[in-house]
Amino acid sequence: MKVLKFGGTSVGTPQRMKEVSKLISAAGEQRFVVLSAMSGTTNALVEIADYLAKHNREAAGSLTGKLRRKYAEHVDELYATAEMKAETLELLDDIFTTIGTAAADSEKLILAQGEIMSTNMVTNYLREQGVRVKLIPALDYMKIDENGEPVLSTIRHNLKAILENHPDYDLYITQGFICRGPNGEVENLQRGGSDYTACLVGAALKTEEIQIWTDIDGMHTGDPRFVEGTMPVRQLNFEEAAELAYFGAKILHPTCIQPARYAGVPVRLLNTMDPAAPGTLINNEMRRGTIKAVAAKDNITAVKIVSSRMLLATGFLRKVFEVFEQYKTPVDMVTTSEVGVSLSVDNTARLHAIVEELRKVGTVEVDSDMCIVCVVGDLRSDNLGFEARVTDAVKDIPVRMISYGGSAHNISLLVRMADKQAALQALNENLFKQA
Ligand code: ADP
Ligand code: ASP
Ligand code: MG
Repeated sequence: MKVLKFGGTSVGTPQRMKEVSKLISAAGEQRFVVLSAMSGTTNALVEIADYLAKHNREAAGSLTGKLRRKYAEHVDELYATAEMKAETLELLDDIFTTIGTAAADSEKLILAQGEIMSTNMVTNYLREQGVRVKLIPALDYMKIDENGEPVLSTIRHNLKAILENHPDYDLYITQGFICRGPNGEVENLQRGGSDYTACLVGAALKTEEIQIWTDIDGMHTGDPRFVEGTMPVRQLNFEEAAELAYFGAKILHPTCIQPARYAGVPVRLLNTMDPAAPGTLINNEMRRGTIKAVAAKDNITAVKIVSSRMLLATGFLRKVFEVFEQYKTPVDMVTTSEVGVSLSVDNTARLHAIVEELRKVGTVEVDSDMCIVCVVGDLRSDNLGFEARVTDAVKDIPVRMISYGGSAHNISLLVRMADKQAALQALNENLFKQA
């Protein structure tokens, strides 16, 4: 079996839903298909939930009405028969009633409706086309714990039981993104989480492959939204892909590669708009001697702590990291010197308390609006010259921190967000355009 995930743009219009349906129903192997909400829907639902949280029912109602009318048009365009139009409209009516009557604190429930709508719409379209298809609600098997971490053993157990009860289908469809929390409440895997659903299902069932279908021909050397002249990368090692995803390559959810890597299931990134294009294969193979791509993570804050003693005394680093642990704030980059340590965080929710605590061990400086630029590839120290090309590319850009040697796949630079575009463009020119 293969898992295929289609993102928001891939199911963004009735026409696209028809194209995806054709792609997934081609005869052959068994497929488990994960769908996102239609593009724009999750953002609209976030807005509705925000208004409800602020007790502005009127604004929420007006946005809900607008979305409802749009979906009624989609239904009209998608189905050929009056029966299927009526059946689907009735289903959507129930969903919009759920949204319209939701409590002020039910953001997760509201957000879940986007994927519930898209999967029902595509399933009904396939049924209308005579395809034997089974819709498997993600809320019946996908589960996270109190730390927001997926519980793979439960997911596997639930999924196996469901598939044993419904064995004779070539096509299963499910919602990406949504899941249940530790107490059975509706939860989600964070924005962009449909990729994570696909990789969790693939890992749980140890499928032959996980395919992430999107609107671009695979992982590019840089973020095409900011950089001109990026090129697709044909192959990535799991670790390279995991670093790129974690450090901001939006094509993949930040943590979705981990389960695939542990299960050893290859991931392929493919383009719905050009299904024959080769895309990017992510597997265990490590191609030596190449830099693969550059990603960037925004809204990073740098914290520098200079020891109140002259030299780094024993226990200084432990005290510093204990503070971050105490406030459950992950640290991304770290650099040290004789007298101090600089590190970076992206979650600043508890920064004020952290800084207060750190002042007990040294002088503290905070720089916000920074960005981590992460160069990924085979960057072992015996590959001579790569660091020089990286630093040469950013010679005209102020670099606040450089981290190299933490893994064999990554050099990270901390620059101001205002310099991000220039840094990414310069790296793309220097690392990928030379003969
Ligand atoms: P989907 O809705 O299918 O999940 P996303 O918008 O989440 O799609 O991800 C695809 C987008 O990721 C691309 O359209 C592209 O703009 C962006 N992107 C950012 N960095 C990269 C990269 N290095 N390679 C390819 N795409 C990237
Ligand atoms: N619909 C969700 C989002 O927009 C999940 C996803 O598309 O992956 O974030
Ligand atoms: Mg995405």
